[in-house]
Amino acid sequence: MIDFNKLRNILVENNSFLLTTHVNPDADAIGSEIAVYEILKSLGKQEIYIINTSSTPYNLLFLDKEKIIQLYDSSEHSEIIKSSDVLIGLDFNRSDRLTRMREVFLSSQKVKVTIDHHQDIEDFVHHSFVDSEYCATGHILYDFIKKTSLTELTHSIAYPLYAAIMTDTGSFRFERTTPEIHYIIAELISKGVNPTEVYDKIYDQSRFSKIKLLGRAIETMRLYGAKLQISYMIIKQEDFQALKAYEQDTDTFVNINLSIEGVKIGLLFIELKEGFKVSLRSKGNIPVNKLAAEFGGGGHINAAGIRIHNGKMEDYIPIILKKSEEYSERN
Ligand code: 5GP
Ligand code: MN
Repeated sequence: MIDFNKLRNILVENNSFLLTTHVNPDADAIGSEIAVYEILKSLGKQEIYIINTSSTPYNLLFLDKEKIIQLYDSSEHSEIIKSSDVLIGLDFNRSDRLTRMREVFLSSQKVKVTIDHHQDIEDFVHHSFVDSEYCATGHILYDFIKKTSLTELTHSIAYPLYAAIMTDTGSFRFERTTPEIHYIIAELISKGVNPTEVYDKIYDQSRFSKIKLLGRAIETMRLYGAKLQISYMIIKQEDFQALKAYEQDTDTFVNINLSIEGVKIGLLFIELKEGFKVSLRSKGNIPVNKLAAEFGGGGHINAAGIRIHNGKMEDYIPIILKKSEEYSERN
């Protein structure tokens, strides 16, 4: 159980706040930052910064109406980060997810907290408000507002929370899409959120190059394993370069693997400028977070990731495929 009163006291009793989230932020990450920003504003707080290690993906810029989110620059922001009364990490609970902001975050002597719904917590903050039963960090924030009555659920707060919950439930189809979630969503819509508009802004504004990149990825798709339960795709740096596409263009590609009959684990290997990353998705009770953890990654039971900076993708692909088959057989 999250101690919402403790979180309430931290927000009420302090004056300056630094909000941040994980590398490659998604709509739960950005939506949760904006929601906390709006909560703090409603409490009359004047000094609120949102500083992220990655820039906001173009399809999520609409959530940042006031253009409050800044991209971390060590010379410009280190002092702000160190002097803020409270540092709030949203939608992650492992410090490596901060990448180049990790050190300055850890070096702060002020109050550090995380609000998150991932498993495998790392102990790097004073207070972790974490519960993996929640479908989204935005869902935790909704509960926080309801349970503490700290502020009113205005349209400005409902809007980013809707985006957070919609995306982290896979548009209301993943397992944690409970009746409660639909009641919450009903309330958010009653505050004036337009579901058609939010979906369109997040999912139906793809750059042409992104869809062409998806085409290249699908070309590489292979089935693997004795029972063909693994499907994987590979994107190389040359694909990004040829299409002027970006890593963040790939965010939903991995799911396509799971739309194939009989496939239980979907993998997307992405070559980075240094090293590579793997997105893992599974059906049912196959814990891809545990699979990812065997390679230093993590995440949720059905959605996880791995980043390896000092290794060659080609060398790892067969090893990760083999492990994936073991997991698909075991569960
Ligand atoms: P994605 O495949 O969308 O990048 O990531 C899916 C989920 O896996 C994310 O929500 C995040 O929780 C987790 N994840 C992705 N990459 C990493 C990583 O490098 N380390 C850890 N610990 N978790 C990751
Ligand atoms: Mn999330």
